[in-house]
Amino acid sequence: MDKIYTIGVIGGGVSGAVTALQLAKNGIESVLFEKEKSLVNGPPFCHLHAGGNLYPDISDEQAKVLMKQSIEMAKLFPQSIDVRPTFIGIPQSEKYAVETHIHRLKILVEHYKDLIKQDGSNKLLGDPEDYFTLYEKEALDKLKERPAVAFPKTTDEWLANAVKIIDYSTLKFPVIMVQEYGWNLFRLGAQAQLALEQTEKCRLKTDTSVTNIKDVRDQNLAHNWELDTDDEVYKVKYLVNSCGFKTGAFDDALHLQSERLIEFKAAYVSKWEAATGLLPELIFHGERGTPHGMAQLTPYCEGYYQIHGMTKDITLFENGLIESKAGAMQPKFSEDIEQKLAAGWTKQDINKRTENAIAFVSKFIPSFSSAVVAGPPLYGAQQIPGDDPSLRVGEVSFPQKSYARSEIVKASSALTVAQQIIEKMHEETLTSVVDTSIGENPLLKRISKSAIDHRASEFAVQRGYPAPLAQLLIERED
Ligand SMILES: Cc1cc2nc3c(=O)[nH]c(=O)nc-3n(C[C@H](O)[C@H](O)[C@H](O)COP(=O)(O)OP(=O)(O)OC[C@H]3O[C@@H](n4cnc5c(N)ncnc54)[C@H](O)[C@@H]3O)c2cc1C
Repeated sequence: MDKIYTIGVIGGGVSGAVTALQLAKNGIESVLFEKEKSLVNGPPFCHLHAGGNLYPDISDEQAKVLMKQSIEMAKLFPQSIDVRPTFIGIPQSEKYAVETHIHRLKILVEHYKDLIKQDGSNKLLGDPEDYFTLYEKEALDKLKERPAVAFPKTTDEWLANAVKIIDYSTLKFPVIMVQEYGWNLFRLGAQAQLALEQTEKCRLKTDTSVTNIKDVRDQNLAHNWELDTDDEVYKVKYLVNSCGFKTGAFDDALHLQSERLIEFKAAYVSKWEAATGLLPELIFHGERGTPHGMAQLTPYCEGYYQIHGMTKDITLFENGLIESKAGAMQPKFSEDIEQKLAAGWTKQDINKRTENAIAFVSKFIPSFSSAVVAGPPLYGAQQIPGDDPSLRVGEVSFPQKSYARSEIVKASSALTVAQQIIEKMHEETLTSVVDTSIGENPLLKRISKSAIDHRASEFAVQRGYPAPLAQLLIERED
């Protein structure tokens, strides 16, 4: 009780965990509270949005920021990145024009070149000229005749495996292959937790909920906040609220005004023995929220596939997107969604939605209809600051002295937010050193691949998922 921490971080999702890691890198002492048993255990992520190509509706500016932030996060957590490309097809029935997409891709190539010019270590997505490749129908017909490759190396090899199973007769041409990679949340969580367990600069309190915050800033004490947990009261000088979709709960407690949307979504786990070798991620664009929303098939090891379908009976939910109201900064979901968040899913719900998802993907990949349900969904609620549901780059705000509120939308924004918090603490003269270099974090660097493999598969199994979901398709050296 007498100890005063420089900073208290509430919430050990990707944002809180990366903040604690960057603080420790700068020699700043923190206490990190996570109510679950392990870190990065909130809403899932599987795709490194290095260009925002899954979001045709976002601005070029947001797409560029997503690319930069994704590269920065990939540098920090290389063992969580699955280096396999993404296939993008646009059905003929959809409003999206391939030309618009190509225009965006060209802008991204120039942006990627600039990033490499600024720092050679940014070259994580291959050569800029190979960032995307276009294929006409005749090229797909030829690739289809090639033998399957168990472990594809070139973009052509990845696509040759994919075209053997895709019904591309209904797609617009050209189709696109882009260097947006997979992102493994179990591996990122494992590396972050192992690194934080080994540093004296962070007191890691998993399985610990912060139940109340007391503002003592006007009492002229050596600390500004008192954080209640079941076992102890913690004193901190600076407070970071990185509670994910629950961020508004502490805004309500502190009588702070803020506007936000929160959205509940789920992705489904299936198993399927594909006739070909490894597949790229497969995207079939469609208008979000309509019965023909985007379909996304994400490959994992040993024949596991994760499915998103941006329709209301697959990934999205009736009343799944809700907003804060005057006097209630923390929105509240319907009973059914709150029940899923608190107690998990019924077997019936798991089967129904996963089967919907399998049928949805089978429209584009007919043989996928033989896939089976292979685990509970990966699900959760995420936050979107403000009132624009299409925002994909989240942010940090500093509504009061010594208080930061992190509201990232995509996991890739976590490092930017952490750096902004450290700069703000410096402005408030709470820290003397500020290392704004984004590069490596020595605490993460010293964690071995085998330690990550082991801890990540423990996380998957403890959370009820098949262990192969914690492995990369394409193994990386230590
Ligand atoms: C279905 C789905 C798919 C997604 N796919 C992608 C993707 O492919 N790529 C991508 O970049 N992003 C994706 N996202 C978004 C991504 O999941 C979020 O951006 C990210 O998880 C947000 O991280 P966070 O740390 O801000 O919040 P969270 O991960 O929600 O972390 C907040 C943490 O705070 C803890 N907490 C809350 N209250 C308290 C308290 N009182 N005391 C202690 N702890 C508390 C919670 O337990 C939680 O662990 C997806 C989201 C969903 C729902």
